[in-house]
Amino acid sequence: MSNDVSRRASCADDSDPFSLSVEKAKVAIRQTMVPIKDREQVAIRSALGRVLAEDCLSPIDVPSHTNSAMDGYALAGADLPSEGARSYQVIAKAFAGKKVPDVCETGQCIRIMTGAPMPQGTDTVVMQEQVEKLGDDRVRLDSRHRTGQNVRQAGEDIAQGSCVFKAGRLLGAADLGVLASLGFAELAVRRRPRVAFFSTGDELRSIGETLAEGEIYDSNRYSLFAMLEELGMDVIDLGVIKDNRKALEDGFRRASGIADVVITSGGVSVGEADYTREILEDLGKMSFWTIAMKPGRPLTFGRMGKAIFFGLPGNPVAVMLTFHQFVRPALAYLASGNWPEGLVVQARARSTLKKRPGRFEFVRGILAYDDDGRLTVGPSGAQGSGILTSMSRANCYILLTEKCDGVAEGETVSVQPFTTTL
Ligand code: AMP
Ligand code: MG
Repeated sequence: MSNDVSRRASCADDSDPFSLSVEKAKVAIRQTMVPIKDREQVAIRSALGRVLAEDCLSPIDVPSHTNSAMDGYALAGADLPSEGARSYQVIAKAFAGKKVPDVCETGQCIRIMTGAPMPQGTDTVVMQEQVEKLGDDRVRLDSRHRTGQNVRQAGEDIAQGSCVFKAGRLLGAADLGVLASLGFAELAVRRRPRVAFFSTGDELRSIGETLAEGEIYDSNRYSLFAMLEELGMDVIDLGVIKDNRKALEDGFRRASGIADVVITSGGVSVGEADYTREILEDLGKMSFWTIAMKPGRPLTFGRMGKAIFFGLPGNPVAVMLTFHQFVRPALAYLASGNWPEGLVVQARARSTLKKRPGRFEFVRGILAYDDDGRLTVGPSGAQGSGILTSMSRANCYILLTEKCDGVAEGETVSVQPFTTTL
């Protein structure tokens, strides 16, 4: 881990010569994290969002037998007419799940349903819509057909013994379908990261309490809880801890003893009181960063015993942004060994966006299609760092890099979507 800060000269008001770039902070975090290797067995229905602990090799061919892709008539491709048309005797019917005992000879065909195993002597299926029926057991075929058409070969999707998913795969719904098609009832998955978190601040009240003058409800614990749940973490909520040396020290010790990752919001990140910094330095190896980003500049990161520690800013918007940019990829890496790069798309700015070079700005935005079907983006409302409603209205961040000195209306900008639907 590096405490190294970029010491380039300040080129504008917004640039802090002692701040760390977003990219450098990510690299330092990644270098400190060690992916979890512990594993457990889970039933396939409990495996959604879990990470495979080992390569998954197929015990069977999928499909397990060569079968028809259509409702139609099966015959030998070599017996198809090369010109004109010819009639064939229909000698049997083949249904999915049953292999017919009949052998198809020259001049014969077999009525076949989708998914039925190909009968002996056949390698080709003609769709029922392309057949002329001449009575109950005769059909006429013309010369437009090709040998092997409309047939699914055994193992064409997955061959027996082939690697279907590598260790580290985050399992989605389609993956569970694939694994079920291979007959897996249970899977070896990695243990979920245990994440403990608490809020700090004398002004914070919990929901259900009455607010006195100057007090606010603790919202960070709820947004943090939700973001951690979305990631499928094993979550431990340690409540609110007062800005008090003993309480904080106890909180850090307790959290780092029971979790892989400890996350706090407020105070501690900047060292609201000198003792927070002292406690943190006592407990582990810490970096106190000022990141060249807006909002959410202060971030404390390090090791505390066996746990990784993230001290996020107190501000509710900054908590979510720093979580999205640093904590989320770090937790995904811890869980799977893969650092997700995140989707970035290009969109036209619906309005002018003011910015000075120096810091990386994340503008809470709304990505939408215009009448011509082009992606456009604009701010989701006031961007003050205390305004959480513009975060909840947003469906993306507009990414304004350190060098960017503003965006004109109609210009193309990079956007990090929160969702895959608009
Ligand atoms: P701090 O980093 O502790 O100075 O907090 C920065 C701002 O965020 C202050 O206005 C705090 O009141 C506010 N804040 C800190 N923690 C929370 C929290 N858990 N929920 C809502 N607001 C908070
Ligand atoms: Mg505070």
